[in-house]
Amino acid sequence: MVVYISTELLESLLAYARDRYPHEILLLLRGSVNGEEIYIDEILVAPFTIQGENFASFNPYMLPIDSTIIGTVHSHPSGVLSPSIEDLNHMYGVIMMILAYPYRDINNISVFNKDGERILLEIV
Ligand SMILES: [Zn+2]
Repeated sequence: MVVYISTELLESLLAYARDRYPHEILLLLRGSVNGEEIYIDEILVAPFTIQGENFASFNPYMLPIDSTIIGTVHSHPSGVLSPSIEDLNHMYGVIMMILAYPYRDINNISVFNKDGERILLEIV
């Protein structure tokens, strides 16, 4: 499984996370899944998102049924690049992207599948 994202989207995500630091961000990923290839086309603000000092959450049941939402992206101001147990229990979509402080470049980003396994992220 490979996830593709454009430089522009990646840069704007990192800039947004830096801007919101020390707060956590949570956004939805819109795109398409083509077999083992996943393309991220757009970043959406999640409805009913609560963004606080140490958490960012939303109620997935409040989200519209939308098959173009392929997952979520959230930040870890702590700098930890792996998902927490809570993250894994609240997976939405097929992928979960985590941005870790200092949100500098692709090395501060990791993507996981439904099983919590890290998957490849490629810039296109
Ligand atoms: Zn997390």
